[in-house]
Amino acid sequence: MILIQGKGVSTGVTKGKLYLFQRQDTTIHKAPAEDIGQEKARIAEAQQKSIEQLEALVEKAREEAGEESAMLFETHAMFTEDEDYVEAIMDMLEEEGCCAEYAVQTAGEQFADMFAQMDDEYMKARASDIRDVTQRILNNLLGVAEGGIDSDEPVVLAADDLAPSETLQLDKSKILGFVTQGGSGNSHTAILARTMGIPAICGVGDALKPEYNGRTAYIDGETGQVVLDPDELTLAGLQDKYQKQQEMRALLQEMKGQPDVTLDGKELMLYCNIGSPEDIAAVQANDGQGVGLFRSEFLYLAAEDYPTEEEQFQAYKAAAAAMDGKRVVIRTLDIGADKQVDYFGLNKEENPAMGLRAIRICLNRPEVFRTQLRALYRASAYGKIAIMFPMITSVWEVKECRRACTSVMAELTKEGIPFNADTEIGIMIETPASIFMAADLAKLVDFFSIGTNDLTQYTLACDRQCNDLGKFFDPHHPAVLRAIKHATDAAHEAGIWIGICGELAGDISLLPTFLAIGIDELSVSPSVVLPLRAELRKSIAKTCTLERLEG
Ligand code: PEP
Ligand code: MG
Repeated sequence: MILIQGKGVSTGVTKGKLYLFQRQDTTIHKAPAEDIGQEKARIAEAQQKSIEQLEALVEKAREEAGEESAMLFETHAMFTEDEDYVEAIMDMLEEEGCCAEYAVQTAGEQFADMFAQMDDEYMKARASDIRDVTQRILNNLLGVAEGGIDSDEPVVLAADDLAPSETLQLDKSKILGFVTQGGSGNSHTAILARTMGIPAICGVGDALKPEYNGRTAYIDGETGQVVLDPDELTLAGLQDKYQKQQEMRALLQEMKGQPDVTLDGKELMLYCNIGSPEDIAAVQANDGQGVGLFRSEFLYLAAEDYPTEEEQFQAYKAAAAAMDGKRVVIRTLDIGADKQVDYFGLNKEENPAMGLRAIRICLNRPEVFRTQLRALYRASAYGKIAIMFPMITSVWEVKECRRACTSVMAELTKEGIPFNADTEIGIMIETPASIFMAADLAKLVDFFSIGTNDLTQYTLACDRQCNDLGKFFDPHHPAVLRAIKHATDAAHEAGIWIGICGELAGDISLLPTFLAIGIDELSVSPSVVLPLRAELRKSIAKTCTLERLEG
C-alpha cells in the first residue's frame, strides 16, 4: 500500500485512475514548410477533426445546456468551414512557405483582428469566436488533448498546481477529484473542486511521483489521504465511507425547497459562489437562493484579450436571467496577486498580494472599468443584479466607484439603453482598513460581503497561497471573528445587509457563531448549500453564543 498524506480541501471519497496533468508547449515558431502539399493536408485534417468535435459539442450542449449553448458551437463549426477564413490560412501558407501551425495562427489572428475592428458590436464580439476556432485547429495540429485530459474515462487529476486559467480549460466531466503537489485551501483548484462537489487534496509535495500516472488511487478529501493499492482494512474503511457519503447525499436531497430558517425563526440567505454563467447549473441543482459572489475575473482569465462589453454583457445577462429574479451579486474585476492576466501588462511585483490588484487596477484604468460597468448595468435589465467592488480600503475609493456608476448610467440613459437604476451597490470587506472604516463605508453602500480569504491573510499577515504556514493561518482566529462582528455591527447600524462570501462561510462548525454575530447571508460553494441548510434548520439562533470570539 502507498499512502500519500496531503491536506484535504474539498470533502468526499472517490476512486479513479491518476492522470498527471501535462503542460504542453504551444508556442509556435515560424518554420519553413518541407512540403506545402503535406502542410495543406495537415490543415485539412485538423479542420475536419475540429468540425467533428464541434458537432459532438453541439449535441452535448443541446442535451445538457440548452439551445443557446448549442448555437455557439454551431457558429464555431460554421467559422471552421468558412471559405474566406480557410482561404486566408491557405494563402498565408503559400505566400510564406511556412509550417501549418504558423499559417493557422497568423492568418487566424489577422482574421479575428478584422472582426475586432468592425463598428457593429455583434460582429466585434465574433473576434473571440474566431480565436477559439483557431485555437481548436491549432490544438488538433499539435495533438493537444481537448479539455487538457486525454482519457476516455473520468480520472483523478494530479498536477503540481493549476493556474486559474488552466482550470477553466479543463473538461470537468472527466474529473473525479484533484490532487496537487502545491496549492492551499484557498487556491482556485480547491474552490473549483468545492463548486463541483468533488474531493480535492493539496500539498502532497514530492510524494506524488510521475510513475504513479495511470494507477488507480483512492482519495479522501476529508483526511487528505491518497491511497494506492490499499490493504484490506484500509479498503474496507474507504468503501464504507463512500457508501455513507452516497447515503448522505440522497438524504440531503430532502432539503431542497426547504426554507433557510432556524428553529426559532431566524432567516439566513444561503447563496452560492460562481466563476461563470455555466456554474448556475450547480446553483440550481443545489437549490441556492441566489448568487452571493460571481467572480467576474474568470471572464478575463479565460480570454486572450480584454473581453468586450458585448461579451461581458452576454455572460452577466445569462447568469441574471437564469436565476430568474433571484439576486446575483457580480464582483467587478479582481485580478492581480494569484490571478495574473498577461494582456493587462502589469509590472512584476515583489509583493503582489499587496500590489496593484482588484479595484486599484479599475480605478487606475477607467476605460477597463467603464466597459465592465456598462456591461453590468445593461445586464441589470434582465434580472436582479447587484454590483460589488473588491479590496476596498478607503471611503474615496467607494465614492469614485459610485461616480463611475453614475456616469455609466447617464451614458446608457442618453443612448436609450434599458438598465435598473436601483441596482444595489456593495463592497467586499476583506482588508483590515475596511473593518476599521466599516461605519463610514456602510453609509455609502447597500450591502457588505466579507471576503474571509483575504481578510484572514491581511489580518494575520499570513500569505493565503503559502502551504507551510499550517496552524499560523487560522481563519478561526478570534481576530478574524471579531473583525466580522465589528463589520456586522456597523452594517446593521447603517441599516444594510451583510454576508460572507469567503471560504469560511461554508465552514459548518462556525454556523452558530455567524448566527450569534447576526450575519444575514452566507455565500458558499454550491455543494455546501444543502448540508448548511440541514444544519441551519436544526439550529436555535437565540442559544448561539459569541464564545469563539474570546481569546
Ligand atoms: C475572499 O477574499 O474571501 C474572496 C471571496 O475573494 P477571492 O477569494 O476571490 O479573493
Ligand atoms: Mg478576496
